[in-house]
Amino acid sequence: MRIHRQGTCLNVLAPAKLNLSLQVLGERPDGFHDLQTVMISVRVFDLLSFRPLPEQDIHLSVGDGDIGHRHSQNSFACPTDERNLIVQAARLIQSETGCNQGVAIHLQKRIPSEAGMGGGSSDAAATLVALNHLWGLDLSRERLHSLAARLGSDLNFFLDSFPIAICTGRGEKIEPARLDSLVHFVIVKPRSGLATGEVFRLWKQLSEDSGQSLNSRELNGSDHRWDQLNSPLAWSSVIQNSLQPAAESLNADVNSVLLNLSYEDGVASGMTGSGSACFGICRNARHARRVAARMQNRGIGRVWVTTSGV
Ligand code: ATP
Repeated sequence: MRIHRQGTCLNVLAPAKLNLSLQVLGERPDGFHDLQTVMISVRVFDLLSFRPLPEQDIHLSVGDGDIGHRHSQNSFACPTDERNLIVQAARLIQSETGCNQGVAIHLQKRIPSEAGMGGGSSDAAATLVALNHLWGLDLSRERLHSLAARLGSDLNFFLDSFPIAICTGRGEKIEPARLDSLVHFVIVKPRSGLATGEVFRLWKQLSEDSGQSLNSRELNGSDHRWDQLNSPLAWSSVIQNSLQPAAESLNADVNSVLLNLSYEDGVASGMTGSGSACFGICRNARHARRVAARMQNRGIGRVWVTTSGV
């Protein structure tokens, strides 16, 4: 994430992520799932600005960062109350530190929701880092990580601003990986999204129906192949997502987007997180623009051309 100070305010760019691969290894007693996932940061951003308030108030306002965009996500009403992870992050940092300062936060939403691109988690991670600065708390990196893990599984990845990392546990154990070159992506988000909880529920049902054990399995050798792959073109052999069958059953548009991407020459494609957004890895910027134009013409969803971030 990038932080920019403007007078007494802080402006932060909170990036989206893509899961290049996501393996659900099993269900845990605490209701979460053991995962191994490779996450990469991409240059699609929410914009957050933080202005100090004298009292302990936390005030969140949300604007549509895509005003004027043909497919802006008008149907998505981002909550501004305690349901928003930004408010939860600010309250948690107040209660944990006894800090009696307040903040007015404005969020410009550009990362699509129910897309598997981690927008809510990135916003919350940005809030922890920004308030640590704004309120002069001087919390250590370890302390911020422990607060992040309490709020959700994807926040830890965003805290360190690693370009790419292998994440395990329920997603909160982060091991940075090497990324030697810029990766060119086309991202397509079907008009309808997918709720993470619903996708995991169907994943469970499908696993039970096929007689698979839900107990967490050990990682096998092939799960570590990512370590040896630092060329985006080599990644096509390891792109996979355990949640894809469930997501495709719940939202037929996911399958249609993936089919359309698979028709493209030289594009490695996959679904991110619990969907519904899908991505294609392209050879270079020109290739990505050409693929994106064809996706746009087919009207299968909203399309971004972007690169790996940080
Ligand atoms: P993930 O990849 O973590 O599953 P996602 O891309 O599917 O995330 P998000 O946009 O992160 O989806 O969040 C989805 C839900 O979280 C929405 O239903 C929304 O009500 C709630 N939410 C809480 N905080 C936020 C936030 N800051 N931005 C967007 N949604 C939020």
